[in-house]
Amino acid sequence: MGMYAVTVGQSVKRKSRVRCSMAAALPSHWVRCSTAALLTVLLVGLASCDEQDNVTAALPPCVDSYCDCGDFASQDLAQLVLVSYPEDLYGLDRDGNGLACERVPDADLSLDWATYFSNNEHLAFGNLSNAGKDNPNNYLIEREQYVLSYSRDRNVLNWASWWVDKRWLGRSGRQDDFRVDGGLPKGFYQATPTEYRRSGYDRGHMVPSGDRTASPRDNSLTFLMTNIFPQADENNRGPWRSLEEYGRDLVYQQGKSLYVMAGVYGNKGKVGRVTVPGRVWKVMVVLDDLESSPNRRTEVIAVDMPNSDRIEDNWQLYRTTVDRIEIATGYDLLSELPVDVQAPIESR
Ligand code: MN
Ligand code: MN
Repeated sequence: MGMYAVTVGQSVKRKSRVRCSMAAALPSHWVRCSTAALLTVLLVGLASCDEQDNVTAALPPCVDSYCDCGDFASQDLAQLVLVSYPEDLYGLDRDGNGLACERVPDADLSLDWATYFSNNEHLAFGNLSNAGKDNPNNYLIEREQYVLSYSRDRNVLNWASWWVDKRWLGRSGRQDDFRVDGGLPKGFYQATPTEYRRSGYDRGHMVPSGDRTASPRDNSLTFLMTNIFPQADENNRGPWRSLEEYGRDLVYQQGKSLYVMAGVYGNKGKVGRVTVPGRVWKVMVVLDDLESSPNRRTEVIAVDMPNSDRIEDNWQLYRTTVDRIEIATGYDLLSELPVDVQAPIESR
């Protein structure tokens, strides 16, 4: 059933791409001898391309491969996909009543939009969900090493943000001291290192151990359970790890500085009391060095992957745009960048 949906979904995508490239690739002599009719054909062709692109841009990234109800941050997004694909390729409306994924909450996070001010360097390009100390499901945890937003009800983080550059990479080994984060407020359940035992899921790092090797203390702080989420092992040890290594190689070999944001959304059930996310995403802003700031041409790597063992090893297959991650999560990434820099970076 799942495989069937993947095949159908991909063939739909492929068809629309072919239609676009045909319109764009009309031989130039056709245009030169253009009659009104030919021009019309060309324009209609291009217009339908644009339309297709806009529809796709408005849908969550999972549409590129396969969606199930665990992949959505909110019911509204599942409904948007059902409306866009009324054939219900992904089986989102099993009871056929026209409502997709009725058990997914209307809104995953009730974000408070009061701006939380902080001079933490790991929030330099913005606070994705305006996390702060007021909303327990969008609870800001700030450390010298990284920043994250945590959800009391899901018992797992929403996102993390951190620099990877020469200051953070050194010779310190992996501390492997998984432990509860004593820093959570009263009333929060404290996820434990044994929470995932026999669950089939890895204790996946959001901020990777390998990104914090300048000192044993830096490294140890990546093993707090607030930085850990239930991650499918083929994802953790496959494309997720390759992308982590690719990023560090840019620092080690080319002296680049990375501004990284990563997080989870969706719901595939529970491990202990911890919500298993349906999707994991990451964005890396690649800067030439510590001093340079992003501009319109700055390279950005954005991926969105299923939290699943049925996954390809090549992270490039999961590339998407920041815009689509913003649609899927409801966050505003890179909000501190000027709009004329933010817009081009986020759309490619
Ligand atoms: Mn990992
Ligand atoms: Mn943005």
